[in-house]
Amino acid sequence: MKKGKLFVISAPSGGGKSTITRELIKKAPGLSFSISVTTRKPRPGERNGKDYFFVTEKEFEKIKKEKGFLEFANVHGYCYGTPKKFIEDHLKKGKDILLDIDIQGGKQIKKIYPESILVFIVPPSFKVLEARLRERGKDDEASIQKRLKRAKEEIKEASLYDYLIVNDQLSSAVERAREILIAEHSG
Ligand code: ADP
Ligand code: 5GP
Repeated sequence: MKKGKLFVISAPSGGGKSTITRELIKKAPGLSFSISVTTRKPRPGERNGKDYFFVTEKEFEKIKKEKGFLEFANVHGYCYGTPKKFIEDHLKKGKDILLDIDIQGGKQIKKIYPESILVFIVPPSFKVLEARLRERGKDDEASIQKRLKRAKEEIKEASLYDYLIVNDQLSSAVERAREILIAEHSG
């Protein structure tokens, strides 16, 4: 049986990866989303076991100690980790998986699975990124400034990724992501 493929999507905060991931999963029925474990609190509308597995710091440490994470990182002050068993089981069954994780995680995944496919989403400009962060309405001013500063650092590392998508028109960005999935399967 053919082994499944691992796709990693990363972007600066507000770059549009949640929006693109959501649309992509709808359009690619064979693709499973890897639900991460996090110590941050759920935002309004987020559900445990769907968006994330929300845990306490103690629970996170326990999973870490038991080697339950494929990778983990601290992002914006909270812990995030990718459950190892889900990934291994799916890949063995020949299923494709999509990971929405940060660059630290992307780098770790590439080391473990050099054949994984890393996709970086960038906004058309920093101005647009700032506007989208404001429009999203989830972050206060200090947090927006922190995210913008971090975005500049993250974009410097984008060359580590296999593909770059400029998220200007949402539908085009989703289509481009879908083309990448198709192209990677024809090889
Ligand atoms: P991320 O998950 O990378 O932090 P989001 O998916 O939450 O980013 O996107 C940030 C904000 O920008 C959201 O309010 C989203 O609706 C909006 N957005 C995303 N992509 C586009 C786009 N192509 N055009 C306009 N707005 C967008
Ligand atoms: P948010 O809290 O806004 O959903 O996500 C914050 C950041 O954490 C995003 O960049 C997201 O991609 C990243 N992230 C989510 N899950 C994981 C994970 O399991 N591992 C790593 N390394 N980053 C993650």
